[in-house]
Amino acid sequence: MIFSNIKMLDENFKVLENMFVQTKDEKISYIGTTMPEKTSAEEEIYDGKGKFLMNGFFNTHCHVPMTILRGYGEGLSLQDWLFTKIFPFEAKLTAEDIYWTTKLGAMELIASGCASISDMYFRIEDEAKALDECGMKANICNGVTSFDPNEDLANNRGWNETWALLDSVKNGKFSSRIKVDMGLHAEYTNNDRVAKIIAEEAKKAGLNIHAHLSETEKEQTECKERHEGKTPAEFMENAGVLESQCQFAHCVYVTEEDEELLKKAGSFLIHNPSSNLKLGSGIAPVKRWVEKGLKVCIGTDGASSNNNLDMMEEIHVAALLCRGATKDANAVSAADIVKMATVNGALAQGRKDCGAIKVGNKADIIVFDLMTPNMQPDFDTLANVVFSAQSSNIVMNMIDGRVVYRDGNFAFINKEEVYKEVNERLGRIIKELAN
Ligand SMILES: [Zn+2]
Repeated sequence: MIFSNIKMLDENFKVLENMFVQTKDEKISYIGTTMPEKTSAEEEIYDGKGKFLMNGFFNTHCHVPMTILRGYGEGLSLQDWLFTKIFPFEAKLTAEDIYWTTKLGAMELIASGCASISDMYFRIEDEAKALDECGMKANICNGVTSFDPNEDLANNRGWNETWALLDSVKNGKFSSRIKVDMGLHAEYTNNDRVAKIIAEEAKKAGLNIHAHLSETEKEQTECKERHEGKTPAEFMENAGVLESQCQFAHCVYVTEEDEELLKKAGSFLIHNPSSNLKLGSGIAPVKRWVEKGLKVCIGTDGASSNNNLDMMEEIHVAALLCRGATKDANAVSAADIVKMATVNGALAQGRKDCGAIKVGNKADIIVFDLMTPNMQPDFDTLANVVFSAQSSNIVMNMIDGRVVYRDGNFAFINKEEVYKEVNERLGRIIKELAN
């Protein structure tokens, strides 16, 4: 496809006018100020007048199958919400439930400009199948939990699912868009022995590790009581987790010492502002992270703690919150926020050829319609994207060179079928829980 005469965001976060961008197979093959040659007679020329092109988003902390739990268990703290509502509901989810609810979540992700997600859940084979069919990229993990200090991991579901999915990926069951991470749910759902095994095996297999870290004050305090004064970040370091590339979600209560540890290790800190606000967890010190040069990404978290998977909204909330919390109107720039949601996310996922509009990179392209009330006047396009835009302004999402969404239509998802399946399955589970 050739995007002609289009406004675009380049790899240095500069807005360029009247540009031409060509894609070939999975990649961006040309960026310039003149029309490139067509590679075939059928190649589409997309009229870019009144449109804005940029890289798609990398949503680096999500639990996409939880979309079926949207609106379930409202008004509870993280711990009460998890143990009294979420865990009993999740015990009822079948493989097919996971497949359909993942498709529902994928629709929302794609429509809000996501190219890729880092996701933590269970029945990850079924999740991978659904995401792959929708055309998305994903780094998927099962966040291992282990409540018995003597548990043999050979009997641990999360552990076994991780290696099984890795085998499936290696055997070519899914497209190359699907990758596997090692998941360590959190310090408070594990113990020292298991964390050490996870760290060692992830390192041997060359897997990135995805975990929750310092999400609540309670987690931070109780971790220190459990582990001789160690914070969750120190617990991870002690177990050897930081020796692999890590993505840590939330990080609301990391101390300045923790930040030094995470910086030294090259870990990625995932900012989940909506979920942190909705569950009353607190506000992460993002301005400090950016000033210290930590690698910050953005994630929506799941639809039952957010309650949406709208990456455009997450970007907006992240930008507003950081400024309000620090009383500094210049705390993070629009470019800082976009960097977190694109190139930093791609690097966190180990996808070095993604995250920016650059020749040779994967063609993960989203297009905004600028000719809408909330995008006019178009004086500062990047500020408009971060502070004014809504997902509804996104008219195209192309992932790895394939258009997966255009003008409200999904190329590989039947909307009505997904709504019907998810609602019927929700009804069944609510009935089962009442019995
Ligand atoms: Zn989470």
